[in-house]
Amino acid sequence: MLATRAQRLKPSATLALNAKAHDLTRAGRDIVSLAVGEPDWDTFNYIKEAAKKALDEGFTKYTPAAGIPDLRAALVERTKIDLGLTYEPNQALVGLGAKHVIYNLLQVLCNPGDEVIIPTPYWVSYPVMAELAEAKVVAPVCSQKTNFKLSPEVLKNVLSAKTKVIILNSPNNPTGQVYTAEELKNLANVLERTGVWVISDDIYDRMVFTGDSIVPNIAQVNEKLRERVLLVNSMSKTYSMTGWRLGSVIGDKRVIDACANFQSQSSSSGVTFAQKGAVQALLGPQKDFEEALKELASRKSIVSKCLTEANIEFLEPQGAFYFWPSIEKFLGRRTPQGTEIKTSTEFSAALLDLEGVAVVPGIEFGMEGFVRLSYALNEKRLCEGMSRIQRFVSSLN
Ligand code: PMP
Ligand code: GLU
Repeated sequence: MLATRAQRLKPSATLALNAKAHDLTRAGRDIVSLAVGEPDWDTFNYIKEAAKKALDEGFTKYTPAAGIPDLRAALVERTKIDLGLTYEPNQALVGLGAKHVIYNLLQVLCNPGDEVIIPTPYWVSYPVMAELAEAKVVAPVCSQKTNFKLSPEVLKNVLSAKTKVIILNSPNNPTGQVYTAEELKNLANVLERTGVWVISDDIYDRMVFTGDSIVPNIAQVNEKLRERVLLVNSMSKTYSMTGWRLGSVIGDKRVIDACANFQSQSSSSGVTFAQKGAVQALLGPQKDFEEALKELASRKSIVSKCLTEANIEFLEPQGAFYFWPSIEKFLGRRTPQGTEIKTSTEFSAALLDLEGVAVVPGIEFGMEGFVRLSYALNEKRLCEGMSRIQRFVSSLN
């Protein structure tokens, strides 16, 4: 009855697990959700005030499909401040979150059979979105030896005449790892000689703990490649605006115009008064975000300490708000009830069942033997979640 496309489609694992955690909480269980990647603090006040003012002023009608001119200009201005790169406002487009923007980009760039390189581990929705564009997913595994980052050697191996797009994401979801400028330069040198488009998913670019205000970007390190780099960003994480559904892309005007046409026939523009809030978010005082980042850094150290105490191996994340610990050594062990844990999915199910802690199985990010923990929740609940994890792993035999 349903189209094959719909029959094959499974829900986003991160959103599905979050929904399950909410359902269990509503049913009366005490659940600590480390599943969804969502800041637990509210959208900053100065942003809400701008959206309220826009509503009061009757800013409630359709806007151009690509976004309101002042938001397109603000996106370009923010990019100049952050990356030192100059674009025209007509090279910026507003969509309903980075998810929507990446989906649309793949729709306008890929013909059936084109290849999309998605370094693994990857954010859960990339492969599904590429498949919905009838592209072929090429998902090279990025080993722990390279800190789960794509190396130029692996990139060379998977590039083909059919490669149309590569998706890069730094800081990375799920690993929290950050590409250095040198590493990006080496990848750019390989990509420069091709016609491949680079979708640079920069939604965590300012959520970084290295002391820098932003991570290096591939568009900065190679002038020739720059024209094929599409800078994707979002209001969701930096400004804690996940529910406002606003994301953006900046880059080649032909691609931006194609996305605008695509949106004009599908979703239309982002929510009108929310866009006014976004202008304020981007250009207003950034000190609320800086405070939030300090808080995140302190939560990160709690998780580091607890994982170390529980003898769980992990690579220290440098950005975003995720840990990607290895659970390899627990696979093959049994819970006190006698259930054998063979996969990350079973690990995560048993942890939720026995201790009421939700984490996302690594396999959802394309890699077995790991789980992803999101630590964007308050210190008290985070400590509670971490001590339950410690108890859970020490109960396995
Ligand atoms: N890219 C990455 C890497 C993500 O983790 C997410 C989820 N927050 C998104 C894109 C989509 O974010 P949004 O649609 O809320 O802007
Ligand atoms: N991207 C976030 C995550 O990875 C939010 C959920 C989603 O959109 O997948 O958890």
